[in-house]
Amino acid sequence: MSEILNPFHTVQKQIKDACQRLGLDDGVYEILKQPQQVMTVAVPVKMDDGSVRTFIGYRSLHTNVIGPGKGGIRFHPNVTLDEVMALSMWMTFKCGVVGIPYGGAKGGLAIQPREFSQGELERLSRGFIQALEPVIGPEKDIPAPDVYTNAQVMAWFMDEFSRLKGYYSPGVVTGKPVSIGGSVGRNEATARGCMYAIREAARDVGLPLAGARVAVQGFGNLGTHVCRLLTELGCVIVGVSDSQGGVADPDGLDVAALIRHKEEQGTVASFRPGDPIGSADVLELDCDILIPAALENVLTEQNAGRVKARIVAEGANGPTTIAADNILTANGVTVVPDILASAGGVVVSYFEWVQNFSQFYWTEDEVRERLEQIMVAAYRNIVRLQSQYDVTMRAAAYLVAVERLAEAMRLRGWVGR
Ligand code: GLU
Repeated sequence: MSEILNPFHTVQKQIKDACQRLGLDDGVYEILKQPQQVMTVAVPVKMDDGSVRTFIGYRSLHTNVIGPGKGGIRFHPNVTLDEVMALSMWMTFKCGVVGIPYGGAKGGLAIQPREFSQGELERLSRGFIQALEPVIGPEKDIPAPDVYTNAQVMAWFMDEFSRLKGYYSPGVVTGKPVSIGGSVGRNEATARGCMYAIREAARDVGLPLAGARVAVQGFGNLGTHVCRLLTELGCVIVGVSDSQGGVADPDGLDVAALIRHKEEQGTVASFRPGDPIGSADVLELDCDILIPAALENVLTEQNAGRVKARIVAEGANGPTTIAADNILTANGVTVVPDILASAGGVVVSYFEWVQNFSQFYWTEDEVRERLEQIMVAAYRNIVRLQSQYDVTMRAAAYLVAVERLAEAMRLRGWVGR
């Protein structure tokens, strides 16, 4: 049988396995196997040259059984409806694993943002939010940054939504700039959460972080911050890559210089000193910790057997296919699953949303401390179930999340006992 590469089918299988292991009422899988609401929109934009073009966008809400929808909006040329639906479902389990009161959601526009001027991007972002206005809101569904979107895009989203409503509505999106209702610490939150998960996993496998060699695929928000944070713990970054290529150095790359280079040149591929490598080669580097922090399906049955790391921490959503996961597990690699390793962002999004409602803002120390508490507790809970059920960390993470959802469904009367 050929490998499952459609992320929507992957997540369905993950849910089904968890429902079966927990012996749940069939209604739970029946409800969770697809999003409850999906919206497709065509957004017209007046381009700088006077022409009008339309762009296709999606927003998928998986379930609101535990709270409003939550999840990012990505701008990427490969965005498809199936991908957005799968990502919205992963968000449900991500929120479930860390115990925050949201269902999953996700959105995307199929564009290459590099080809747009700032003005075009702003008009497109505003147009997208106008189109999504009926389905989003602070108590309905709350977008956030994702691949190739950032705080500026969130500022436009929030401003446009507030205009449409006629009042200031910061709680409609998270990941905003701090001066207009963002939370301190949100920008680095996904990376910080990933770092906490790695720190716990390294302790469990007996890998000292001082001197541990790390390779990172993807040098966006997560990749840059996680390199910096792990370097602070004594790790050595031996390779990084982005969509245009990568660079490796077994003696360690200068992370501060690398971040400056990325800012100036738009890629890490031309960074020196170091050896040029391909974007995917970084996955097979000789290292202790591998962080796939870009897109889905990068670890497959083709390359998983060549992964040399002892720990794979999934910073991206869905980077490992089911077949690859089995290979890594058989080879004794500890895979810290995406729904835990990349949950730091949505946890601090939750803090931001809480701060927006209360209009009382926290200090950076408070954000870090609460994030650490949540990540460590979630990690420990997963490890406990992992040994109880004798399953992988990923399967255990799904057990935590699905059990929470099933309980909410029972209590709300959606399914039987
Ligand atoms: N896009 C991020 C994720 O995939 C953050 C979502 C959020 O903060 O709502 O987890």
